[in-house]
Amino acid sequence: MSLAHAEVNTARLLEKVIDAAPQFELIEIEGDAAFLALEADTLDSDATVALTLDAAMAMHRAFHLERQYVATNLCPCKSCTQAANLKLKFVAHIGEVATQTIRQRRKLVGIDVILVHRLLKNPVEVPEYLLLSDELYHTANTPMPGPAHEVSQDLEGIGPVRAYFVDVADLPSSTDPLPDPSLLVRLRKTFAVAGSGLPHMLGLHRRRRTASAF
Ligand SMILES: [Zn+2]
Repeated sequence: MSLAHAEVNTARLLEKVIDAAPQFELIEIEGDAAFLALEADTLDSDATVALTLDAAMAMHRAFHLERQYVATNLCPCKSCTQAANLKLKFVAHIGEVATQTIRQRRKLVGIDVILVHRLLKNPVEVPEYLLLSDELYHTANTPMPGPAHEVSQDLEGIGPVRAYFVDVADLPSSTDPLPDPSLLVRLRKTFAVAGSGLPHMLGLHRRRRTASAF
């Protein structure tokens, strides 16, 4: 049950996070991460960072609201009870990309795509943060809404880069309290988990039966 719920919970949280940033295009789901992009050609310098901040705050809020539903869904399995410990981190960069379409799926390619992925492995120790690459950070003229801390790292195949992170706890929207889910909502969400967990388990079961037939 726990493994099936872990997958369902991750998918649910990711869906909410992606839906919370409709201005961004979902490029790819990468395990428990989502890679989103936005065309920044027509944006002025301040708007680029402002949009990134707005999206991060909206995604963070959606994540925590859904995380609270998952953690209070009455399911006693490990994945559901420990959902309250799940964290959300953001890494953002601006750069040049090329697109590649394979089987109607658009992919972004280029050194800047590699860079933003490499930035995920960083020395930032706060549990939830928004890490901006040096390039993105310096596009804005107006200061960040929270204190920005500089970090340096040596990226594999790229070399030393500088980046700046803001603790999500220092961003304005994270201080708004989340609404307390009513029992009705809790039951509805519990049902949703049980319902979406079922086909997964049925699938496993069927595979096992096929295997034993051979
Ligand atoms: Zn569960």
